[in-house]
Order: sequence, then structure tokens, then C-alpha cells
Amino acid sequence: MVWKKPARYHSLTKIKMKAPAKKVIAVDIDEVLADFLSYFVYFHNLMYKTSAKREDFKNYYLHEILGTDRDEMHIRYLEFKTFSLLERLKPIKGAHRGIKKLIELGYAPHLLTARPKVIEKETRKWLDIHFKGIDLPLHFARDERDKFKKKSIVCKEIGAKIIIEDHLDNALDCSESGIKVFLIDAPWNQSESLPENVVRVKSWREIVEKIK
Ligand SMILES: [Mg+2]
Repeated sequence: MVWKKPARYHSLTKIKMKAPAKKVIAVDIDEVLADFLSYFVYFHNLMYKTSAKREDFKNYYLHEILGTDRDEMHIRYLEFKTFSLLERLKPIKGAHRGIKKLIELGYAPHLLTARPKVIEKETRKWLDIHFKGIDLPLHFARDERDKFKKKSIVCKEIGAKIIIEDHLDNALDCSESGIKVFLIDAPWNQSESLPENVVRVKSWREIVEKIK
């Protein structure tokens, strides 16, 4: 007589263990993963005879600090891109380790940037160099016409309940939508008070400690 697997046993083997869903965490790029400002200011000082320093940026509206208007700033930004300087940005200290730690802790970091889509190629190239082998979905806080779309809206779309950010306006926008914010301390995001769900942090190390 040939032994047959009992039907019940057979069905049990089909049960697959479902991995728990990873918690999506939105992560900004400029000044969170990539040190854009230092290099851009260096370029701007050389090209446009300015003498700005990182500490001068009491807000992140670059044209205001660099003494020009939005349109001209955009042209200078594209010039920076044309010289392939975006690919030379250095990563922010602790960012690589921090991202890896978040993944170990069960988070799924999704990058969320307000960069214009015209620099998508450069952005991906930079990520391939500095975050090689790490799966980081990339989202642009931009609509179909490349107009800025609130980060809180994109967070909802991708299911992120936490964001790591350096821009005060984005932090406050997300906070109002109930998204917890880790705000990386910088001269341009100072404020007298912050909502309860916005945590000011000094470093990536502090984010990892506080998120555990
Ligand atoms: Mg930023």
C-alpha cells in the first residue's frame, strides 16, 4: 500500500509565514542624506562673488540669503547641475549608517525630496554611489507639472507616519497632518517652539536612538 499525505498535512504545508509589514519612513535628501548647501554655497561664492557661509542661512530660501530672486536662483541651480556638481555632494555624517539601522529596526525608508524632477537622473546616480545596494524608493514632492506638492500629501500616499526632514515648513506641514517629524537641527530651521510631534535632533545617531 502506498502511503499518501493526509489532506490536512498537505494543506498545512501551503501556509506561508507572512512577514510583518514594514513601517514606511519618509526621508528627505538635501541636508538629511546629502550635504547640498555647503557645496552649492562654495560654487555660488566662486561664480557670483558672494561670501555666504552655511551659518548665514537663517531660512532655506536660498535666493533670499544669496541676494537674488527665485527665477535667477533656479538658473544658478541648473548651472550647478550642468557642471555635474550634484553628483559630487558629500553624504551627511552618519546618514548611511542611520539608514541601515532603520532597515534593521524594521523600517522601510522611502526618499522624499522637493528637488525638481529635471535632476532625477543625477539624484539616482548619487544614490547609486553613496547608498549602493540599499533599496530606497524615491518620491518627488512634485505634481504632474513639477509644481511642489506638500510632503504631508506624499507621506499619506506612501503610508509614511514618520518623516526625517530639515526644512521647517515641511516639518510643520507634516506635523499638522499627524506625521511624526525628526527635524535635523540646522541654522535655517530654528523656531521658538515646535509642536509635540516634531522632535529636534542633532544627528542621525540621535534619530536611531530615539526611534527604537
Ligand atoms: Mg532638505
